[in-house]
Amino acid sequence: MKYVAEYRDKDLAKSVASAIQREAKPGRTYNIMEFCGGHTHAIFRYGVQNLMPENVHFVHGPGCPVCVLPVRRLDDAVEIAERHNVILCTYGDMMRVPGTKQRSLIRAKADGADIRMVYSTLDALKIARDNPEREVVFFAIGFETTTPPTAVAIKQAEEEGLKNFSVFCNHVLTPSAIGHILQSPEVRELGTVQIDGFLGPSHVSSVIGFEPYEYFAEEFQKPVVIAGFEPLDVMQSTLMLIRQINEGRHEVENEYTRVVTREGNLKAQALVSDIFELRTSFEWRGLGPVPYSALQIRENYADFDAERRFEVSPKQSREVKSCECPAILRGVKKPTDCKLFGTVCTPDNPMGSCMVSSEGACAAYWTYGRYRDKTARQQKEAAA
Ligand code: SF4
Repeated sequence: MKYVAEYRDKDLAKSVASAIQREAKPGRTYNIMEFCGGHTHAIFRYGVQNLMPENVHFVHGPGCPVCVLPVRRLDDAVEIAERHNVILCTYGDMMRVPGTKQRSLIRAKADGADIRMVYSTLDALKIARDNPEREVVFFAIGFETTTPPTAVAIKQAEEEGLKNFSVFCNHVLTPSAIGHILQSPEVRELGTVQIDGFLGPSHVSSVIGFEPYEYFAEEFQKPVVIAGFEPLDVMQSTLMLIRQINEGRHEVENEYTRVVTREGNLKAQALVSDIFELRTSFEWRGLGPVPYSALQIRENYADFDAERRFEVSPKQSREVKSCECPAILRGVKKPTDCKLFGTVCTPDNPMGSCMVSSEGACAAYWTYGRYRDKTARQQKEAAA
């Protein structure tokens, strides 16, 4: 447990909680958006919100790669698998996300499509090697953290001369999404989402560094602290944000120094930029089209691009009716605001990506049950 236990230490947590209590000024609120689903789960799993004063609030952001994939791209993946008779490989969480008319990859698989769950891009390459007579498509999703392994797979496929392997690329970029949130009407005009600072993505920053966040911290005057995923990381980063907010600073600070540097992993960045280039626009679930927020495969590697290899038909994709995932991903609503939460929609019978994904906000609320503690407390207070 070396390097883990230290970040879950009860006494240290108490002392950071006391510092937060002391430094959070009673006359104001602190609304802190955690971009990553990993932070949301740490907050719920370890009861971090319960250790905060009443005026420190966490706002859940869109940082779950499964959750932000728009339904149309999922529908496209189902179509590639069904219509083109390929072997479609994907990570486990994607299998159960409902697309239009609640059709998911797992339902398509049950109906006969050859869809296989993999743990890494290398598994997908192996399937391609083992099945030279079949087309194998890797359904790639994720932020900057998962992009280098996809780049490695494409590079390796090229070196091996694997002609039956391609990638359906859905890799997205965090800095553009954070900038987009800060320009949204809910933040800028309506004031329905208040954000005073960000817990910044940590694993993403291990690849891209923290320099890419400096522009919008300055431009929008919002502090960012790159925070690890352990409970003490989240608490210490919250304290650092409260200090910046109190002092009127808006800088990018790095709490996750054991992994992240300002420059990031230059070798991984070079590999990614060799294989991918920016898309001019990409739709995010909840955020709509976000300019320059995703990657596509460069012309030089066009042979490995499933979007060029397989035609998909234009479609009218639709979310499950009443699912509030889009509003939750913008920080406008909480899972408990959704009338399907815990009734029609549970992890066993998910209606939206936020309940399926291991990083989704609805899954965090349900799994750790903190909303039940709060409801019970409110009922008790009302009865007193
Ligand atoms: S509870 Fe289910 S239906 Fe409601 S927002 Fe979450 S995932 Fe969507």
